[in-house]
Amino acid sequence: MNVLVINAGSSSCKYQLINMENEVVLCAGLVERIGEDMGKLAHKIAPDTDKEEKIVLEQPFANHVEGMKKVVELITDADKGVVKDKSEIGAIGHRVVMGGEEITKSVKVDAKVKEIIDGYKALCPLHNPANLAGIEVAEELFPGTPSVAVFDTEFHQTMPSRAYMYPLPLNLYEDLKVRRYGFHGTSHRYVTKKAAEFLGKPVDEVNLVTCHLGNGCSMAAVKNGKCIDTTMGITPLEGLMMGTRCGDIDPAIVPFLVEAKGMTAAEVDTLMNKQSGLKGICGMNDMRDIHAAVEKGDEKAKMALDMFVYRIKKYIGSFYAALGRVDAVIFTAGIGENDDIVRAEVCSEMEVLGITIDLEKNAVRSGEPRNIAKAEGSVAVLVVPTNEELEIAQATMEVLKG
Ligand code: ADP
Repeated sequence: MNVLVINAGSSSCKYQLINMENEVVLCAGLVERIGEDMGKLAHKIAPDTDKEEKIVLEQPFANHVEGMKKVVELITDADKGVVKDKSEIGAIGHRVVMGGEEITKSVKVDAKVKEIIDGYKALCPLHNPANLAGIEVAEELFPGTPSVAVFDTEFHQTMPSRAYMYPLPLNLYEDLKVRRYGFHGTSHRYVTKKAAEFLGKPVDEVNLVTCHLGNGCSMAAVKNGKCIDTTMGITPLEGLMMGTRCGDIDPAIVPFLVEAKGMTAAEVDTLMNKQSGLKGICGMNDMRDIHAAVEKGDEKAKMALDMFVYRIKKYIGSFYAALGRVDAVIFTAGIGENDDIVRAEVCSEMEVLGITIDLEKNAVRSGEPRNIAKAEGSVAVLVVPTNEELEIAQATMEVLKG
């Protein structure tokens, strides 16, 4: 069966069509600047193979439906299409960011599920309405084809209350569901399964610290294959320092800024989400630019890099304490998979915890899972490329099989 994975953002829509018999990606792409004067559609046939072909269209897309209509035309094109007819698409898997406490597993989309997704729009204003738009697009363009919603928050629903509760008045949890949910769950779950495979252990016997380091960064403490803690909270702002997000700060900074600078709550929110993190400290949020600047002696870039690394180290220590035993530390996503400098600095001087790094192994670039720890290290240090689209497609198949 072919599964179309849709990850709809507020003005963009990412997609992948995967043949689930052999897990081969038939095509993938991104519709951008939806609703703007000029939009862009970048479509790749047979991506990352020697047969890869790229088609780029620049034209306005009034809304998500218009953008995805064009994608369906490309997918089923008589000449360049990868399927003859859209009936060859057997199911649609949707990335949905927030499912709250109501949804602990991927589910087939129905009216009730849509209502739950809509109910979290106040907490996840950038994601949930867009994810719902993606679902509605699929309903319009693929009537009768089953849609499955796969949630970022699912994997973290196994956290115990001591990890997910905030020490705030209890009624905030009871009335408003103010608690920690965690994000990037599809990625943490995917690399957990891959790491167990790599270590040759059943997934329910592995203890891991997973580090998803991309534009957004989060970590999870995984005990016997299940998440027991994570760094992100009620929103994807808590935890690690990120590209433009601050991560953990003293919450009293918020009222201080409101008083001292006369900022509104919305302005402080924008400051913490878009103007902070690596960018806030050194003006750059791409780690490659930061390394280049450090090379040239840029001190702010060095401070940003040091802060980024230090905060990951601190969380590895605290998750180690929470887990008691760690089989492996996993690095994944843009920085985790590609940045040997960050990996080496994070793992430096951690021998006391059994965490080591073999600098030669660390320097090797590869798309395969690999162990970069020294032979004598008691904890494996794994680089595991993540694949959230494949995880969503696999979860979609599992739901449909019941
Ligand atoms: P997202 O969170 O948007 O999915 P990615 O996982 O693709 O992001 O990660 C994007 C980030 O990864 C970039 O901003 C960049 O900092 C970092 N990155 C990508 N490639 C490299 C590389 N070769 N070296 C260092 N950092 C990299």
